[in-house]
Order: sequence, then structure tokens, then C-alpha cells
Amino acid sequence: MSYSPAYYKAHRDRIAKANERWRRTHQAQLNVASRKRRAEHRLSDRTAALKAYGGDPPRCACCGERALSFLVLDHIGGNGAEHRRRNHDFRTEPYTWLRRRGFPAGFRVLCWNCNGVIKPNQSQCSVHGGSET
Ligand SMILES: [Zn+2]
Ligand SMILES: [Zn+2]
Repeated sequence: MSYSPAYYKAHRDRIAKANERWRRTHQAQLNVASRKRRAEHRLSDRTAALKAYGGDPPRCACCGERALSFLVLDHIGGNGAEHRRRNHDFRTEPYTWLRRRGFPAGFRVLCWNCNGVIKPNQSQCSVHGGSET
């Protein structure tokens, strides 16, 4: 059905508000859905990257820790800051960046603990047999 001009004129504001309300609620749902999709992609990229660098199942290169939530990627050689400066996308989406490039060499998987104490060119942190210096 179509509105008569007089009806439309009288109800214009109400109709506009209803349309606006509809758009807002549906836009919010769309946003939630796409945020969720992006989060899922990030998670699967992360798992894929950890497997590419840390084996399947991924483990810490130093102590063998296997809890996925403790594992991080370490930039071998310690020039990660320089790498991040040059690659803005890497800073925001490191796992996606690596996947798009086919997981290039130069990274390893460490757990939070070992990553915190290991020296850039050591293969073992001081806690797990590496030297202190
Ligand atoms: Zn470790
Ligand atoms: Zn260690």
C-alpha cells in the first residue's frame, strides 16, 4: 500500500523515526556479527601461525610449553621493534600479516615465561639452561 501525501506529511516524522530505529538496531546486529567474524579469523590465523612456527601441536621452542594461550611469536634476532615499525599491518594484525605472506622464516614460538627472559640470539632462556649473559 502507498501512503496518501496528506497521511505521509502528517506521519513523516514518525515514519522517519521508525526507519531510523530499524536501521540502528539492524546495523548494531551487523556490527556484532562482523566483529565476531573478525575475531574468529584472528583466532584461526593465530593458531595457524603458532603451528607454522611451533609445530603441531605448537609448543614453546625453549621449554616445550603447549598451552596455546601462553604461546607467543618471537622475532628471531630481536629486531622485532624495527620490523614492526616498517610494517604497520604487522603491528595491528601480526598473525594475518604472516599468513598472507605464507609464514616467512624468522619467527619462533615461545611461551610468555621464556619470551620474557630469553636473549634475542639464545635458543634457551636462562631458566631452562641458557646462559645468563
Ligand atoms: Zn617456554
Ligand atoms: Zn625457557
